[in-house]
Amino acid sequence: MFEVKEIQESDLALNPVIAQMSKMNHEQILFCNDNSTGLKAIIAVHNTVLGPALGGTRMWMYNNEIEALNDVLRLSRGMTYKNAISGLNLGGGKAVIIGDSHTMKSEALMRRFGKFVNSLGGKYITAEDVGINTTDMTYVNMETDHVVGLPGKSGDPSPVTAYGVYMGMKACAKEQFGSDSLEGKKIAVQGVGHVGEYLVQYLVKEGAIVSVTDVYVPTLKRISANYGVNVVGLDEIYDIDMDIYSPCALGATVNSDTLSRLKCSIIAGAANNQLQNENIHGLDVMKKGIIYAPDYTLNAGGVINCFSEVKGLSSEWAMTKASAIYDTIGSIVKRSKSENIPTYQIANKIAEERIESIGKVKLPL
Ligand code: NAD
Repeated sequence: MFEVKEIQESDLALNPVIAQMSKMNHEQILFCNDNSTGLKAIIAVHNTVLGPALGGTRMWMYNNEIEALNDVLRLSRGMTYKNAISGLNLGGGKAVIIGDSHTMKSEALMRRFGKFVNSLGGKYITAEDVGINTTDMTYVNMETDHVVGLPGKSGDPSPVTAYGVYMGMKACAKEQFGSDSLEGKKIAVQGVGHVGEYLVQYLVKEGAIVSVTDVYVPTLKRISANYGVNVVGLDEIYDIDMDIYSPCALGATVNSDTLSRLKCSIIAGAANNQLQNENIHGLDVMKKGIIYAPDYTLNAGGVINCFSEVKGLSSEWAMTKASAIYDTIGSIVKRSKSENIPTYQIANKIAEERIESIGKVKLPL
């Protein structure tokens, strides 16, 4: 994925939306408005070469529409790459609803949104993302079948995401230490929410020496008591003695400040957009001899779980598919070493190559 300058307010006079779509290679944007329910949403379909565009709906109080538009364009493109590298027959898309998810959500608003999703005729399949829960998706489902993450279906994706992160972390260990065993390895997990807790379970079971941090103290106390792991401070986590840093909370934690402090030799976590600036920090990580497991490859267990629901496949299928993240990460790291190119760039290349080659297969139809 290449860096594209975001739309500025000063650009508005130049009617930049289609120009930006062209730069980022988007297929379609649907702007949605409904005065009676207060719905204001944007659905972005980035690429459907591999299949229908799948990606969650985020509800967020954006400062303005430009911010929402930039977010949905960036997120939908990210889904194209994640789905492609995961070997799924899915394209990339995403939706954002502009508003406060605590005060503005209603059955009517979600159903109106569902009608807009339905108007795309299956080109876009939605799911939960930040600010949206399974109840909201149940309302969306009253108006469209193009929705996953429903109660009683594939369920919470976090266990599958955590398993994929764990397998990918082992693949990094194999490349860095010569063995994929995590026994005795010092691993720092930042954020022990849904994914972080499942990950800690795998790591403790394998005999890793785990340290955790989290902003939410009750969770931290529970995790520490249940799994016997060390607790470290929110900022202290960057300075402790560790082999593996696993960001499972926020993006952009791999930056110039933290890279001058981190003593790890692997970075492998569930958070999205871990590199603050791909071009700068992706290269810096490589120069420091740290193996960085590209985030969207490592955390693809969640979308694999969604795909199982789209296709009516079992949870066993999803876990087996997530275990293949081990091989994908291993081959990315090997190729990064042999071509002397940062791992994130190799991941982008593999995703683009798959879309290009499958695009050729599809042309004669
Ligand atoms: P979550 O909200 O359940 O957990 C995040 C945890 O991080 C919370 O416990 C929160 O208190 C903690 N946290 C927030 N800010 C922090 C900080 N500054 N320092 C330390 N801890 C902090 O979210 P999740 O579902 O576990 O997802 C974790 C990350 O993985 C997110 O970035 C998410 O986008 C990404 N991800 C999740 C999935 C999934 O299946 N849930 C899939 C792909 C990617």
